Amino acid sequence: KDFRNDVKPNWCPGCGHFSIQAAIQRAAANLDITPEHLAVVSGIGCSGRISGYINSYGFHGVHGRALPIAQGVKLANPELTVIASGGDGDGYAIGMGHTIHAMRRNINMTYIVMDNQIYGLTKGQTSPRSKKGFTTKSTPSGAMEKQVHPMQLALSSGVGFLAQGFSGDLKGIVSMIEQGMQHNGFSLINIFSPCVTYNKINSYDFFKENIVKLEDEEGYDSSNLGMAMQKVIETNGMLTGVIYQDQEPSFTDQIPNFDQNPIVHQDLHLTSAALTELVEEFC
Ligand code: SF4
Repeated sequence: KDFRNDVKPNWCPGCGHFSIQAAIQRAAANLDITPEHLAVVSGIGCSGRISGYINSYGFHGVHGRALPIAQGVKLANPELTVIASGGDGDGYAIGMGHTIHAMRRNINMTYIVMDNQIYGLTKGQTSPRSKKGFTTKSTPSGAMEKQVHPMQLALSSGVGFLAQGFSGDLKGIVSMIEQGMQHNGFSLINIFSPCVTYNKINSYDFFKENIVKLEDEEGYDSSNLGMAMQKVIETNGMLTGVIYQDQEPSFTDQIPNFDQNPIVHQDLHLTSAALTELVEEFC
């Protein structure tokens, strides 16, 4: 299966997002998913372009709203493997409400946050993941707010699968995306993805020097919520690997016979004229 298309990404050379695109394509191929059974929904930002760079169904949504669209896609057509993706501004600022409620709702899909700790598309402003004191054009005297900690937030919001990776470790992120896609429920994968143009602090070298790899931590048990929270706090969120996974039923597992008559197979009794009218109403 070839998840490549002929659209050339216009990310800056060296941008961490290239690895994430490649990782999604490899993970889908490794799991024998076909392009017509994969949907990628994105938000706004440099990260948002990813839905156009993968040979699958793609939907480039609006800022912070990739998750409601992706959840709707999965509910309408449970046969699709659904990925939502966006930047840290998309998911942890304007879209934060959706992020928290999607985690506790637990619809079977994967959310990949391309976390570069800055707003890249708009030329480098402080984002919710920028550290306190971070200097950009929008905070010339240093950010006055504390950074958002998505790992602690996810664990306390009922996430069923939580992983964190680094764009500099392609093999690692392919593996965690595969595991997230196979998880029965909502999976959040936060990936440190350096913005080489506007963020000179959170660089490849910075992550290589500061990341703690869970695979090196003897005795770590990703089914233990308390241990996961303790490790996240101990490392100040700078850890990579599968941090937590539970076996809870997904949202739709709790709806009797849900898979037997999905919306995608229902006759909506919509004539071509009625469909045109509906589309025009929203244009
Ligand atoms: Fe990547 Fe930053 Fe360039 Fe955007 S501005 S494409 S995030 S390196």
